[in-house]
Amino acid sequence: MASLIGSICLTTRHGKERALARPFRLGLGLKLVTSACDTDQLGTFSGEVERPGDALETCRRKARLGLEQTGLRLGLASEGSFGPHPAAPLLPVGQELLLLIDLDRDLEIVEERLELRTNFGQQLFGPDQDPTTWLERIGFPSHAVIARPASWTPGAPLYKGLTTTTHLRDAIAASRSADPQGRVQLETDMRAHLNPTRMASLRRLGVALVRRLRTPCPCCGAPGWGPVDRVAGLPCRWCGEPTALTRFEIWGCPQCRARRHQPRADGLVSADPGQCHFCNP
Ligand SMILES: [Zn+2]
Ligand SMILES: [Zn+2]
Repeated sequence: MASLIGSICLTTRHGKERALARPFRLGLGLKLVTSACDTDQLGTFSGEVERPGDALETCRRKARLGLEQTGLRLGLASEGSFGPHPAAPLLPVGQELLLLIDLDRDLEIVEERLELRTNFGQQLFGPDQDPTTWLERIGFPSHAVIARPASWTPGAPLYKGLTTTTHLRDAIAASRSADPQGRVQLETDMRAHLNPTRMASLRRLGVALVRRLRTPCPCCGAPGWGPVDRVAGLPCRWCGEPTALTRFEIWGCPQCRARRHQPRADGLVSADPGQCHFCNP
């Protein structure tokens, strides 16, 4: 397998090297170099700058900015988006994406993860409502908070990266006095350096990408062989009807586009009848 050598550039202003430098050094012998481009021009979590395009396109632009700035040939960028779970709206999830660009091989390798371990949340508080319980639940002060008036519009002041009780109290007071009804909106600050839960999630994503990069394609030998899709329909153990669970993983190569069905990593060949629409309607 042709190996990846030298240095790799990570475009970040949010300390993501704390999660990613170690897996890339230990797993691939690559030295991580950071590029602190102003990625806020590509959009922000808190909505001061609208995010254009999808997460993959944003990642691509970030990685390319870093490559232009450093002149390196290998680039990394990550992007997270947060919201309600598509199937269970009360459950918050993160969609984390990590992209590697290899200019020499003209390759893009993507690792994605639906992250259930997240503190993502937002809550509106009336003039007399106490946010203490909510703050405890989202992990303040080890996890930062954003405050803004409930009537906030882009361009108006908002308060990000709040990690002390004093700063938070002042920001809440300022937000309330700027809102005609004295209401304040609090939300989790999802930037990696202010959110240890997200940093841990990035570390898991980095380890998964390194594992993929260490696996050569069985057809062409390029790095990056790993899961790219899945086929649902794992049969029910009682009646044999297909369920929504994964039957096969599809592994693929980012270079030659080879695809192969792989059995499930956990070895499961039939589904629990509890997952079956016929046996457990
Ligand atoms: Zn291949
Ligand atoms: Zn069944």
